Amino acid sequence: MISGYLEGRTTEFRFRKLGLPGQRLISRRICWSGSMKAQVSTLQKRETVCLLCKEELENTEHLLWSCGVLQSMWTSIQIQILPFDNSLDYKNRFVRTYLAVDGRQKMLISISLWCLWFHRNKLVHEGVKFSMPKLLGFIRGYDHDLCFIHENLCFLPGSMGKELWRPLDYGIIKLNFDVSFIQGKKLATTAVLARDYRGEVVGADTYLFEEVGNAFVAEARACEKALLFARMMGFRRLIVEGDSLSVINNVKKKEKDRSVLRPITYHIHQLHLFFDEVTYNFVPCAVNVAAHILALEGRIRRVCGNQVDGVLDSVRLVVEKDWLLWNQRI
Ligand SMILES: [Zn+2]
Repeated sequence: MISGYLEGRTTEFRFRKLGLPGQRLISRRICWSGSMKAQVSTLQKRETVCLLCKEELENTEHLLWSCGVLQSMWTSIQIQILPFDNSLDYKNRFVRTYLAVDGRQKMLISISLWCLWFHRNKLVHEGVKFSMPKLLGFIRGYDHDLCFIHENLCFLPGSMGKELWRPLDYGIIKLNFDVSFIQGKKLATTAVLARDYRGEVVGADTYLFEEVGNAFVAEARACEKALLFARMMGFRRLIVEGDSLSVINNVKKKEKDRSVLRPITYHIHQLHLFFDEVTYNFVPCAVNVAAHILALEGRIRRVCGNQVDGVLDSVRLVVEKDWLLWNQRI
């Protein structure tokens, strides 16, 4: 939609530059622009009152500029708005603002518009109550993930080629967790793959969660399941790895979690009592492939439960490849 406003300019959100780790998540977001455009034009015909602020007609200018909810959201995430001449229409205010801000702010504007529209649709079609704190939490988490990827993975020369699964000290079990999430059906298949110090699989588990609100909650559930699985298996010293930076940061935090993940992170912290040692690592998707394949296979084959006597061939192949790459690293 933004690209349409910029009179045919191809306004990539520069997400593709950010590298593999966020690609899966990001590509889903980009699909939004076309459908939003179609829905905006439908709304214009119907002349509906904005359901977020309930103050003005929900036309394109309102959605992109004058909506009080949008403006309040932009104030909270500190979007820099230029002073404008009163004669300038909202469409051009939006275009000028977008062109004037830096790359990160452009990204925030794009994410915030997508996010606002997503929650507006949730309100209209599913009756899900609109929550500004929840929306701001999502935007900040997303922004944080993208910044991290940008700073740590894209500008370190040769870093992408050096991401490897790493073996560990004797006695420690590494748990890689991931999730396959179907947004439309709110279904999340979580997966945890446990490996010992030599990289051998010592257990795997998949689990189906229903009514999962979003991808972050799904990832947090996967992390929680990893600890529950470790407890069941009697593991005592753990390294827990996942490719969701928000979840890893939230569970590592010492202070009280104030995000939507709070009930899950609280339970995760309670589970720490069952272990001698728990360390969390954020890893790029490229290092978490085995867990990701396990989640996908769990979803496609509808396999739920423990796999302590071996894993599917597709997962085993990735595990073997991880080990091979580690041994060939020099
Ligand atoms: Zn409004």
